[in-house]
Amino acid sequence: MNLHEYQSKEILAKYGVRVQRGHVANTPEEAVKAAEQLTAETGAEGWVVKAQVHAGGRGKGGGVKFSPNMDKLKENAENIIGMQLVTPQTSAEGKKVHSVLVAEDVYYPGESETKEFYVSILLNRATGRNMIVYSTEGGMDIEQVAEETPHLIHNEEIDPAVGLQGFQARKIAFNLGLEGQAFKEFVKFIDALYKAYVGIDASLFEINPVLKTSDDKIVAVDAKVTLDDNSLFRHKDLAALRDTREEDPTEVEAGEAGLNFVKLDGNVGCMVNGAGLAMATMDIIKLSGGNPANFLDVGGTADAERVEKAFGIILQDPNVKAILINIFGGIVRCDRVAQGVVDAYNNMGSLPVPLIVRLQGTNAEEAKKLIDESGLNVHSAITLEEAANKVKEVLA
Ligand code: GDP
Ligand code: MN
Repeated sequence: MNLHEYQSKEILAKYGVRVQRGHVANTPEEAVKAAEQLTAETGAEGWVVKAQVHAGGRGKGGGVKFSPNMDKLKENAENIIGMQLVTPQTSAEGKKVHSVLVAEDVYYPGESETKEFYVSILLNRATGRNMIVYSTEGGMDIEQVAEETPHLIHNEEIDPAVGLQGFQARKIAFNLGLEGQAFKEFVKFIDALYKAYVGIDASLFEINPVLKTSDDKIVAVDAKVTLDDNSLFRHKDLAALRDTREEDPTEVEAGEAGLNFVKLDGNVGCMVNGAGLAMATMDIIKLSGGNPANFLDVGGTADAERVEKAFGIILQDPNVKAILINIFGGIVRCDRVAQGVVDAYNNMGSLPVPLIVRLQGTNAEEAKKLIDESGLNVHSAITLEEAANKVKEVLA
């Protein structure tokens, strides 16, 4: 689950990470109030208006605007709130901006230069350790840095049993070229950041840029946080931060029905039980010249109601030109699945696309009977190869 920047910063601040302070606003009027409040609290003389959407590269897409005065701030908020923000990380259609973060300007001039760094924390599954990835080349495209100057990106692996050690924090600060007060500040910053990462069961923190201000403070200017979905049961407060407006609506609906569904952009809808079989089915669709429109695992305990729901979800996608149902009846009984398909079909009156059904295993014969007697126009298949050929036929 992803968080918004403003949510991420609130959490980091609780762990003692210095962040660029700000207040969230849903209207230009609220943005003006937020800026006034911020100035009363921090003395900020300028503000940035930052679109709150789950995507990076907002600055490039015009979703982050510096505002030196109130008129400009209001204008920026008016332009950004409600816009369709297109960034290198969104689809061509972009994402609708519902709210903005009005943040204090932290790039003010002073004694020394400002510097932008890149810092992320993630789990390295190969070593089973957390890893801090960092670079002096912050603020810009880290993908481009990785491509062109990979030697400027460093890793520090952390043993989860002992946590981030002082020498590691100092090594990172040293490699970033920090000295004096900024060095000390960074060591505190990275220590608090790591504690936050572990404390909230995150799977990714990406802070780009981490800013060294002109008065040698270390500040998180941006914050992208991904939480481990499997840990949400023990973080009810964090689970409540979910913004379903940022997610694919059919995925949200499927999640609520307990279905493991991922929308893809192909033309063959698939309903399968078991993640492994679902992957194999997607391969088969590819080999037969189609493209999977989704990943859908109805699970081992699928009943008619759930199958009907899944069927409805697949059919919401206008790109779907055929549906392949591939069920191996082990724990799930094939007749239950068949009943779900028949019920869904009856409720809809007709089926807009050809249906290929492969039901194998427990109660496969009853299932076949149910489908045959339903009047449903289906292509039934016994082997996976047959199913693939049927897909090819109906797409031709
Ligand atoms: P992203 O584009 O989605 O990664 O959003 P960021 O939060 O990283 O902001 C994009 C860019 O806006 C940063 O790299 C900064 O250059 C700029 N920016 C952010 N905060 C400030 C600020 O307080 N003052 C100024 N002048 N620029 C800022
Ligand atoms: Mn950023």
